[in-house]
Amino acid sequence: TEEKSLNFIEEIIEKDLAEGTTGGRVQTRFPPEPNGYLHIGHAKSICLNFGLAKKYNGQCNLRFDDTNPSTEETEYVESIKEDVKWLGFQWANELYASNYFDQLYAFATQLIQKGLAYVDDSTSEEIAATKGSTFEPGKNSPYRDRNVDENLRLFEEMKDGKYKDGEKVLRAKVDMAHPNLLLRDPVIYRIKHAHHHRTGDKWCIYPMYDFAHGQSDSIEKITHSICTLEFIHHRPLYDWFIEQLEIYPSHQYEFARLNMTYTVMSKRKLLQLVNEGQVTGWNDPRMPTISGMRRRGYTADAIRQFCETIGVAKRENMIDVGLLEFCVRESLNKSANRVMAVLDPVKLVLTNYPEGQTEELELDNNPEDPNGGTRIVPFSREMWIEREDFMENPAKKFFRLGPGLMVRLKGAYIIKCDDFKKDENGNITEIHCSYLPESKSGNDTSGINVKGTIHWVSVPHAKVAEVRLYDRLFKVEDPSSEEGDFKEYINPNSVEVLSTVYIEPALANTKPGDRFQFLRKGYFATDLDSTSEKLVFNKTVGLKDTWAK
Ligand code: ATP
Ligand code: MG
Ligand code: MG
Repeated sequence: TEEKSLNFIEEIIEKDLAEGTTGGRVQTRFPPEPNGYLHIGHAKSICLNFGLAKKYNGQCNLRFDDTNPSTEETEYVESIKEDVKWLGFQWANELYASNYFDQLYAFATQLIQKGLAYVDDSTSEEIAATKGSTFEPGKNSPYRDRNVDENLRLFEEMKDGKYKDGEKVLRAKVDMAHPNLLLRDPVIYRIKHAHHHRTGDKWCIYPMYDFAHGQSDSIEKITHSICTLEFIHHRPLYDWFIEQLEIYPSHQYEFARLNMTYTVMSKRKLLQLVNEGQVTGWNDPRMPTISGMRRRGYTADAIRQFCETIGVAKRENMIDVGLLEFCVRESLNKSANRVMAVLDPVKLVLTNYPEGQTEELELDNNPEDPNGGTRIVPFSREMWIEREDFMENPAKKFFRLGPGLMVRLKGAYIIKCDDFKKDENGNITEIHCSYLPESKSGNDTSGINVKGTIHWVSVPHAKVAEVRLYDRLFKVEDPSSEEGDFKEYINPNSVEVLSTVYIEPALANTKPGDRFQFLRKGYFATDLDSTSEKLVFNKTVGLKDTWAK
């Protein structure tokens, strides 16, 4: 196997392990806020955090960052667990920031006692107005010098529900002239009379992200707390709380978040698409969510490979969605069984094949997989073939069917086109061919070589299916950076439904999640809507990269 060079986080970890900084331990965490479904960006963070723990014999916690009761729901918690497992990872501990509310409250009290936090009666507007700017120091709040006892009493009253939302906040007392605006007395607790999905109505004050995240890391003795670049300016605050509280020194490291072309990735935007009916749900196969990609037919292995390929960078960039599709294609090429499906059917009759006769042909499931096995495909006098595989006036290099042309039916016989029928509109309705009995695949003594092979499905044996074809959800590479609302850039033709597709009878018992290569047509997956009465398939990805650059 080839040696891969270490990414910058692996370098840090190896140095820490070599120097014993973390006591020889690697403990990471993946900290989703349960306010939406996970997307491909989260997959990158999951692969990184769980991957590092695995590589260095450490542990990775799944920690729900559930400190904002108004946007968080149990449905999201469940979907996140399902998605992480599906990606192939197992957490060491399932934890919730809300488990630490008592401890966080005690930490806040300690800060007050040290003279490092105060209750502020200013409104959020007043606080914002006194923050200053990069060029100007902020102004001290008139409440900044409240004494410890008063602060302790007021903070307790906040907790006990004596005040309304926004009436008071608890702020850390750092430095209103600090060059980093985040350290100008940040708000660390706010009042919010809201029901929490786990703690119910126990609390009406909730810690802010900056006061919850680092301390949660510290409580769990996280050694390497990995987050995205936007948090780089939060790191001094992360360190300040840990230092003042004299608790386990977790460290934060930042990497570049994943951005991908033709995709929006903020949960807020994805939620809008769901709520406004632009998609059928979080798991719509066009969504960049893990559940959407799973439903579309993407494999966990392809997503992990993608995350591995893009690596871990310190600077933001934009990844071509074609790279993800490439990884999906590579993965499915190895694992997906080949079957025949006719998406745009026209009837073909083998005029010299005995009426009522059926042959059972044995076809390979996957030429890429020596253990792929075989399946039986019935053959008869009437076939469905693709309309595009016939031309009334064939072009020069058209090696398929047309008057007088010969082609091989995949895994079966060579046939020759003798005649065809048209309706009054000029549409081809039936193609008449004769087959060469001595040309049977695997036992061909005809001595004839044909250039083309086409797929087919026997008419009396065919099952009908619905097939959903997808295009990009957005018309532009970076919808979020365009002028106006990102939804103006939605591709109005991102799904096309084919209601009458003929497939081999071997697919009659397919279950949601099964994946196939429809010969010559691409990769397809059985949709969640599929039942034995109504089969439904999603197009996962084409066979080749059809995206013109
Ligand atoms: P969003 O912007 O979609 O709301 P978020 O960062 O608020 O994302 P969280 O649930 O807080 O969502 O994210 C959990 C973890 O996943 C965090 O550590 C976060 O940094 C990481 N993460 C989120 N989006 C991406 C991304 N696009 N690329 C890499 N990591 C990401
Ligand atoms: Mg977040
Ligand atoms: Mg968010």
